[in-house]
Amino acid sequence: SQFIVGLTGGIGSGKTTVANMFADLGIDIVDADIIAREVVEPNSAGLAKISAHFGPNILNKDSSLNRAKLRDIVFKNENEKNWLNQLLHPLIRAQMINQCNLAQSKYCILAVPLLLENKLQSLVNRVLVTDCNTNTQISRASHRDKNSAAQIKQIMAAQLDRETRITYADDIINTELILTQIRAICENLHQNYLKLAN
Ligand code: ATP
Repeated sequence: SQFIVGLTGGIGSGKTTVANMFADLGIDIVDADIIAREVVEPNSAGLAKISAHFGPNILNKDSSLNRAKLRDIVFKNENEKNWLNQLLHPLIRAQMINQCNLAQSKYCILAVPLLLENKLQSLVNRVLVTDCNTNTQISRASHRDKNSAAQIKQIMAAQLDRETRITYADDIINTELILTQIRAICENLHQNYLKLAN
């Protein structure tokens, strides 16, 4: 697609819910979370570099990445965290661009939880933000993942606050609304994006 809508929002703010609605309208979704897993899947160049750097103990028996171990290492060591980010960010970025180019719909949605935190706005033509109350984020995210409210709050502390995120938005979906209302808003935005894409 020539026209790319970046979809972002805080944890539990409804990104996946909204992305699914655009998918139902026939729009191709490029998902940064999926790409982040693909670039380290077994036999990938990314995983080969990680195992060369950290040693083969970073792999599980089935030669997949031991994510818990990697998370533990980078949590304790800033240098290793930077090394990993310098490896993965360009790989993820290249794949996001590649998959958007391959998308066949009139425009595509690039769903990136940390689009703004990682300053990736230049990849998109428009920024769509899902937004709801902080308490709603915590209750929805903890309900879905069985994460504790404390864990959710910790993740939220590493993300932009609502007010700042919204200043970057071209469009905002208030996900406090009921799903039928959100679907109607998505249909409206869809018509606008089709026009903009032309
Ligand atoms: P994450 O960043 O954690 O992946 P997300 O931003 O993708 O989350 P969703 O997974 O879409 O958010 O929504 C979080 C939870 O809240 C899900 O269980 C979803 O079904 C529910 N939810 C989202 N929007 C609404 C809504 N408008 N009404 C009721 N429930 C909702």
